[in-house]
Amino acid sequence: MKTIIEPFRIKMVEPIKLTTREDREQLIRDAHHNTFLLRAEDVIIDLLTDSGTSAMSSEAWGAMMRGDESYAGARSWFRFRDTVKDIFGFEQVIPTHQGRAAEHILFGVMVKPGSFVPNNTHFDTTRGNIDFVGGHPVDLPCKEAQDLDSDFPFKGNMDTEGLENFIAEHGADDIPVIMVTVTNNSGGGQPVSMANIREISRIARAAGIPFYIDACRFAENSHFIKCREAGYEDVATIDIAREMFSYADGCTMSAKKDSFGNIGGFLCTNDAELASQERNILIMTEGFPTYGGLAGRDLEAIAVGLRETLDEHYLDYRLLSTQYVVEHLIDAGIPVMAPAGGHAVYLDARRFLPHIEPLQYPGQALSVELYLEAGIRTAEIGTVMFGLDPQTGKEQPARLDLLRLAIPRRVYTQSHMDYVLEAIQLVWERRAAIRGMKIVKAPKFLRHFTAHFDWL
Ligand SMILES: *Cc1c(COP(=O)(O)O)cnc(C)c1O
Repeated sequence: MKTIIEPFRIKMVEPIKLTTREDREQLIRDAHHNTFLLRAEDVIIDLLTDSGTSAMSSEAWGAMMRGDESYAGARSWFRFRDTVKDIFGFEQVIPTHQGRAAEHILFGVMVKPGSFVPNNTHFDTTRGNIDFVGGHPVDLPCKEAQDLDSDFPFKGNMDTEGLENFIAEHGADDIPVIMVTVTNNSGGGQPVSMANIREISRIARAAGIPFYIDACRFAENSHFIKCREAGYEDVATIDIAREMFSYADGCTMSAKKDSFGNIGGFLCTNDAELASQERNILIMTEGFPTYGGLAGRDLEAIAVGLRETLDEHYLDYRLLSTQYVVEHLIDAGIPVMAPAGGHAVYLDARRFLPHIEPLQYPGQALSVELYLEAGIRTAEIGTVMFGLDPQTGKEQPARLDLLRLAIPRRVYTQSHMDYVLEAIQLVWERRAAIRGMKIVKAPKFLRHFTAHFDWL
C-alpha cells in the first residue's frame, strides 16, 4: 500500500476557524507582520512549533483522571519514575515542569563561569542556560550538516574529530559536560547515528567528562536509526533507545516533544551525589522531588506518552508523513532541506526568494506570504532570529535563512498537509513579485518574538 494512513481514529475534534485572504490581510497587519503576534484562533494550520502542541490519546486523557495529587510519594510519581527508568535506564529521575528547567538545574550544578559545553548544536534554551551561569556553549555539527542538499542520513551527528581537538586544546578540566541533542533540533531535526553516539561516549569517557543526551526527540531519533543505520533493521525501536542512553551518564528531556505532553520534563543521572545537589535546587525552584513542577495528572499523561511514542507504527507514520511533504517539495523543485528530518520541514528561504537580500529578511517575507495565502503559521529561522549581535548592535546575515514548518504530533491529517503543499506551490509561482521586509521596531534580545515588520 502506498497511502500512509494516520494510525489512529479521531474521536474529539477542535474546529478550525476558516478565514479569507481579506481577513488575513487585516489580521497580519494588526500583528505587525509577525506570526508570533497573531491570535492562535486566526491561524488555519499552526506549524509554529511541535512543542506542547501534540495530541494526547484517549489512554493519556484517561490516565489524567487517575492522577494522584498527593504532595509526596503519589502513585502517579512512581508510575512516571518507573516508566522513565525502564526506557532511559538511569538510576536517578528528577521531574521538572519543562526541559529548560532540567537544563537550568543541571548547568547550575555542573557548569562554572568560563567552562565550555560542547554539543552537536545547542538548542536556544540550553545555550541560554549555559550563558546564564557564565559558561560557553560550543556547537560542533558534522561537516555534512553544512550542505542543505546532501542526502547524508545522519546530518545531526557531532563532529567527533572536532570534539577531540577541542578537548585537547581546552583541557578536560574546563569541560564539565559534553552533550548531544537527538534529533538535532536547531540543525533541522536531523538524526544522530548510534555510531556517532558511541564515539562521543568513548571520547567523553576517555577524557573523564560526563556525557549527557538532550533527549527531547529520542523516539524519532531511535526510529531513524532503525530505518537508516546498518545493523539496526531488526532491533526494536525501544531497544535502540535503551542502547542510546546506555552510552550516556544522564539526560535532559522536554516531555512537550516526543511524549505528547502539553507540559513537562525531567532530568536523569546515574550519579547519586549529583542528584542530591540537583534535588536541593529542585525543591527551591520546581517543587518536592516526587512531583517537580508537575501535577500528578501530568506525570500520568507523560508516563503513557513515553510508551506510545515508541510504538513503531506511530513512528513509521510520523517519519513518513514528514518525508511525504519534503519529497513533494523536492519534486516540485522547491528549495527545502534534505533529507527529511523528524519533526519539521525547512524551506530554504534564501533560494526561494533569491531577489531578497538576507538583511531584507526572506524567511520573514515567506512566513507572512504563507499566512496570507492560506492561514499557515510558520517560524523564521534566519537573519531575524540570529542576525543581530546584542552586544555590538551590529546586524549581519545569518548563516542560513530558513522557514520552519514544525509538525505537531497526531494533530493534522494528510489532507491538511496537501493543503500546506498547495499553498507553498501557489506562493512559489508568484515568488518574483514578493518584496523584502524591514524591521520597524525590535527589542535587543530575542527580537524574533516581538519585532514589528513592514514591507519594503
Ligand atoms: C524544546 C527543547 C528544549 C527545551 O524544552 P522546553 O520544554 O521547551 O523547556 C531543549 N532542547 C531541545 C532540543 C528542544 O527541542
